[in-house]
Amino acid sequence: MERQFDVAIIGAGICGASLAYELSKYDLKICVLEKEVDVAMGTTKANSAIVHAGYDPKPGTKMARLNVRGSNLIREIAKKLSVPYAEIGSLVLAFNEEEMQTVQKLYDRGVTNGVEKLKVLNAEEVKEIEPNLQDNVVGALYAGTGAVVSPWELDIAMLETAVKNGCSVLRESCVTSLKDNGDSWEIGINGEEDVLRATYVVNCAGIHADDVMELAGEKEFTIYPSKGEYFLLDKNQGDLVKHVCFQCPSRLGKGVLVSPTVGGNLIVGPDAQEDSVKDQVGTSADRLDFVMEAAAKTTGKISYRDNVRNFAGLRANSDREDFIIEAADSAKRFVNVAGIKSPGLSSAPAIAEDAVEILKELGLPLHEKENYVDSREKIVFHKLSSEEKAKLVASDPAYGRVICRCATITEGEILAAIHSPIPPKTLDGVKRRCGTGMGRCQGGFCGPKIHRILSRELGISEEEICQEKTGSYILSSKIGEGEAAK
Ligand SMILES: Cc1cc2nc3c(=O)[nH]c(=O)nc-3n(C[C@H](O)[C@H](O)[C@H](O)COP(=O)(O)OP(=O)(O)OC[C@H]3O[C@@H](n4cnc5c(N)ncnc54)[C@H](O)[C@@H]3O)c2cc1C
Repeated sequence: MERQFDVAIIGAGICGASLAYELSKYDLKICVLEKEVDVAMGTTKANSAIVHAGYDPKPGTKMARLNVRGSNLIREIAKKLSVPYAEIGSLVLAFNEEEMQTVQKLYDRGVTNGVEKLKVLNAEEVKEIEPNLQDNVVGALYAGTGAVVSPWELDIAMLETAVKNGCSVLRESCVTSLKDNGDSWEIGINGEEDVLRATYVVNCAGIHADDVMELAGEKEFTIYPSKGEYFLLDKNQGDLVKHVCFQCPSRLGKGVLVSPTVGGNLIVGPDAQEDSVKDQVGTSADRLDFVMEAAAKTTGKISYRDNVRNFAGLRANSDREDFIIEAADSAKRFVNVAGIKSPGLSSAPAIAEDAVEILKELGLPLHEKENYVDSREKIVFHKLSSEEKAKLVASDPAYGRVICRCATITEGEILAAIHSPIPPKTLDGVKRRCGTGMGRCQGGFCGPKIHRILSRELGISEEEICQEKTGSYILSSKIGEGEAAK
């Protein structure tokens, strides 16, 4: 394996993925180092999945500029790389005259930030487009460019494209030491088990970005994680609302939203817990009760009997107001992409453009590749016409075997994922690429079949297959070895 790189990116979340995608346009040797068994396993897999229009951040901040630019870039990238994305529009609801003033303020901010398709709606206009909301809605800010996306598929698609253009993605590679040798960084992986070299390092380590900065120099900032918990409801709830429905933002953030997901479910949440601990993403009954109560202000029609999953994500709040995208003071040829809280998902491709500019200023030579590949095909069987399905099954019978009954996902799609540029090694890895196990049965029926397919295709025993993280073995013979099964 290659040992010397021009740029090493630490972290394969949406920021690391966007940067790898952007840098892979140039003649460079790039690697992405990710501590988990798969990419997109940090905050990028557990958020509201909204591409914000950009009216919320304070004008003049990096957040404002990068949110608006990023949301436009995501629209283009999603199309090029076959990523699920839907521009369904968003509403910030007002329930009294004071909140109506907030709506007007957000409208003005949006105009200043350069957001298009903004409109202030009155109560009748809101009820006409969202009949299931509470009757006491007095108006709303409508943003036509608000969208929903699959955050992990966006991450995976950008990284797969980077890999096709020569980038190396090294999973289960936790950066544990960083030593500057004057003209290159010596990067210790998994407690010096392995050592790589890179001229430049970019820190995209999410909630651990302050720890990674400290490995290279001084702790230039501190990350304070803030947990947010969610309900994910079955598809029978997915069309309760047609738009992303926010409440007016408060000091604690954008508040609890109710929204369709790009996969057709309904998402409700998050709360904001300022006393959170890194890596602890468990959910709790009292916080979920709070989310339920808060969402009832928006609509009283959510059927929580149809909840299919609860989950939580950790915001990477920092001791600065804005995103931290800058060359480090205490380490040379080292760039921080840190404190990327919301709207970090929406801004990520634009954050990557800024990071590339900083690398260029630090001396990274950028020569565009001649044969750059910027496309990705993905077959989604259930979206094909009957004729297309018949043709596909005739050419490859694996597409005729339905494995996930809830979402009609075929063996052909699972095999395509397993043999993709960044092959999944776990059941959840297949889930994030194909959507298996995301329906009502949550993998109860398809899980054992995918388990067998993974074992067969990867050429490893069924005992070695994990559910999610390294060590989360599914078969009992392995439980107890390493981390307990989750
Ligand atoms: C509750 C909640 C709701 C949100 N909703 C939205 C939204 O709707 N829209 C929006 O735009 N934004 C939203 N966000 C923000 C958005 O999710 C984040 O800004 C974004 O996902 C951050 O991506 P990242 O790449 O910086 O971090 P991450 O996705 O956390 O990636 C960091 C990666 O670095 C890896 N890593 C850490 N340390 C090391 C190490 N030492 N060695 C190797 N790898 C390492 C981690 O394993 C991880 O994979 C939300 C966030 C939360 C928590």
